[in-house]
Amino acid sequence: MSAPLSLTGTPASPGYAEGPLFALGTALNRYEPKGSPDGERAALLTALDGASEALALLIADAVGEAAEMLEFQLAMVEDDALRAPALAAIDAGANAATAWQAALGEEIAGYEASEDDYFRARAADLADIRDRVLRDLTGSNQEASPPGAILTGDDITPSRFLQTDWTSGGGVALAGGSSASHVAMLARARGVPMVVGLGPVPAASGRTALLDAEHGGLALSADFPGVEAFRRAAAAFRSRRAGADAYLRKPAVTADGVSIRVQVNVADPSDVDTIDIASCDGVGLMRTEFLFGKPSGLPDEETQYGAYRKVLEWAGGKPVTIRTVDAGGDKPVPGFTVEEGNPFLGLRGIRLSLARPDIFRVQIRAILRAAVHGNAKVMFPMVAVPAEYAEAAVLFADEAAKLAATGVPHLLPPLGIMVEVPSVAVAPELFADAAFFSIGSNDLTQYVMAAARDNGRVASLNVVTNPAVLRLMSGVAAFAERSGIALSLCGDAGGDPASIPALLAAGLRDLSVVPAQLATAKASIAGLTIGSA
Ligand code: PEP
Ligand code: MG
Repeated sequence: MSAPLSLTGTPASPGYAEGPLFALGTALNRYEPKGSPDGERAALLTALDGASEALALLIADAVGEAAEMLEFQLAMVEDDALRAPALAAIDAGANAATAWQAALGEEIAGYEASEDDYFRARAADLADIRDRVLRDLTGSNQEASPPGAILTGDDITPSRFLQTDWTSGGGVALAGGSSASHVAMLARARGVPMVVGLGPVPAASGRTALLDAEHGGLALSADFPGVEAFRRAAAAFRSRRAGADAYLRKPAVTADGVSIRVQVNVADPSDVDTIDIASCDGVGLMRTEFLFGKPSGLPDEETQYGAYRKVLEWAGGKPVTIRTVDAGGDKPVPGFTVEEGNPFLGLRGIRLSLARPDIFRVQIRAILRAAVHGNAKVMFPMVAVPAEYAEAAVLFADEAAKLAATGVPHLLPPLGIMVEVPSVAVAPELFADAAFFSIGSNDLTQYVMAAARDNGRVASLNVVTNPAVLRLMSGVAAFAERSGIALSLCGDAGGDPASIPALLAAGLRDLSVVPAQLATAKASIAGLTIGSA
């Protein structure tokens, strides 16, 4: 750990940056009133049309998360409900800029007050839309930051992040922000260091600062006596990353020769565009929720089929474990999930899919049809009792029979379960019908420790290496070994070098990790001595 810096916050994307501070300003108070409500109305509608066109152009060049974020923004810009309060304020005498700023301000405050991380994270997208339209109305351009700058402000909009040239380094230091935001995901994907929750950052544009996004800190170098220690920590971080990259193409083997399978977790089919299949043993978890949270509504069979087929073809014969939709809990899906007082203990995962067979059967057909294009496996989330597995398996068999009757090419893949509800981890022998198990350490930990995974106040209890959690995992591993059931682990702990020794000691030999952690997970496995299994 480097010495504490002057401001401390939460790391949202690891790394180090040393460069000039650049305060993100809006400079939006230069609006020239048009003199009549009709003129104001026309000015706002023209600016909204301009924003739609600009977003459509950006979408044409974007892929993956960036494209999804821009599509969300386009849907919002074109949404009549979003513009109605501003138009009403114009009719009541306000000018277009003031009316738009106030209307969006209220909307953003509503998103920020949400208890849900997803909606809080969308507040930055709305701020982005607000500023884009205001820039158009005021004719102001946002100044470009100097190369290698550390951008500071309350929050940064996703499009501002995407417009910034990060090739000379730099980083993001935010007074507010959230590590679950779109910008934080973009920063992690591009390796841009980012710290959130620093509190007020001095407005000192141009002054050199040090950003430690490994531990979460920001200092003005002139005030910071530990500058040499900071540079050593930054160099050590760079060489750890570069050293880990050397492991990427090699199979994962411990120092004493035990082979470990390392697969990847895929959250969006476009994730695989930047992964070399040779660097992993397959996909241990393909999340499918990304298909269900779109403003355009629930996905049809063809959309799902295309997404599953893309990843199966990319994997070229290596296994792809497609998880049926795990909506609910912290992943609400309008038109599918229900409002509940305690959603983590409610109708989520397989419970919800079984309660809505109309929606589940569409996903089942898409998976069965895509399965002919590779080595598919199917996994059910949140299974708590054997009857849920049996009921889901019947639905798969039933849809397969219907496809067979109509001559549609399809394949029934092996059906397995997530081990993430304690009832399964305590008595895995009740689930011996499942073709395989995959431990969901994120949920298993929150349910065993009674400490919600999204509540910072109980983060010190939500610890995957707690002996109770590890004992359950080693019981599952021992049962899987005895009964010849394949076992993997696909929770975040699998990619965390601090947790990997305990997971291997518990008997796990197959880990599925987020792509950005593939190299570091393999490097840390190579440094361990665990004794032959
Ligand atoms: C888990 O619970 O560990 C898991 C992998 O699933 P999710 O994080 O999507 O709930
Ligand atoms: Mg889970």
